[in-house]
Amino acid sequence: MIDITRPFLPPIEEYQEYVKGIWTRNWLTNNGPLVNELELRLKHHLNVDHMLYLNNGTIALQIAIKALSLKGEVITTPFSYIATTSSIAWEGCKPVFVDIDAETLNIDSSKIEAAVTEHTSAIVATHTYGNPCDVEKIEAIALKYNLKVIYDAAHCFGTKFKGRTLFDFGDVSTTSFHATKLFHTIEGGAVFTRNPDVLRRMAYMRNFGHNGPKDFADIGINGKNSELHAAMGLVNLKYIEDIQKSRKVQYERYDFWIPNINVRKIKIMPGADFNCAYYPVIFNTEEDLLKAVELLNGHFVFPRRYFYPSLNSLRYLERQETPVCDDICTRVLCLPLYHSLSMEEIDLVCRLLLRAQKYEL
Ligand SMILES: *Cc1c(COP(=O)(O)O)cnc(C)c1O
Repeated sequence: MIDITRPFLPPIEEYQEYVKGIWTRNWLTNNGPLVNELELRLKHHLNVDHMLYLNNGTIALQIAIKALSLKGEVITTPFSYIATTSSIAWEGCKPVFVDIDAETLNIDSSKIEAAVTEHTSAIVATHTYGNPCDVEKIEAIALKYNLKVIYDAAHCFGTKFKGRTLFDFGDVSTTSFHATKLFHTIEGGAVFTRNPDVLRRMAYMRNFGHNGPKDFADIGINGKNSELHAAMGLVNLKYIEDIQKSRKVQYERYDFWIPNINVRKIKIMPGADFNCAYYPVIFNTEEDLLKAVELLNGHFVFPRRYFYPSLNSLRYLERQETPVCDDICTRVLCLPLYHSLSMEEIDLVCRLLLRAQKYEL
């Protein structure tokens, strides 16, 4: 079976070494030594000044929204994982969808200004599949209208834009270290900011607002992560170069086949050093996509319609029109891509895609 993804697992002995240390110290969570070590190593690896390691990428979004005191309307993309939109609504703000660019599948920066009103407090945009948004244009709009910017950078480990990690952009960037992501700590996430005041707020928020055992500096939640999760991160970080290298090779193997298949690729933002985290392809019609999925599934290959459906169709939100996204999300498919995927398996997936476009349903 070839699934859409398979979590990376390091040699078990290396993880067990860390687990022994945890047993010796009897310190399982609450800002333990492994959590601190992982934060230091990640900051060094990514070349950022500040980051807070959290228990998942959704809490990261919620803490970011809360720490920036967002209110009213928040401009966002309908093409993302549900957590981007649900976090905005969860924090009592109204998601205002701006349609996506048909080439990059990121929020269309040329349509953002038209959506700004006196109630707009921020832009929350996703770097879809690890492909950078138009960060320069978005920054200019945010400056002009005095808006905050949060990037959901859950897919972005390893992507750089003009030489800087993508986590360095926006007022806050959030990420996820969930098991299915390029770099993972089983469950996990982080927030990044260059603003020391926002950092301090988020640090309090991560730990219930505690300022010592008897004082609470601010409203908080439980955003902490455990020593066992940090241990997985520390081991996996040792393999990150390997993971990134194999991902590039696998990506190029798909690239070899794709020109012969009736699908198109997304456009990667110029200036980006892309992490190849996902391999999305766009079919001409939903019918073509369904035909391909059926044939692949029949051969135990399980790609995923990611992201589907479009987030403007959520039942708990008022319907807003985003025709480009509504159309593309019915035609986009992510092909299997993970560390242990072999070249032969990629060839098999592509041969099946070729065959699918030849046969009638
Ligand atoms: C994975 C993901 C999240 C959520 O992260 P969790 O760690 O699973 O909470 C949010 N946004 C995007 C775009 C994601 O892919």
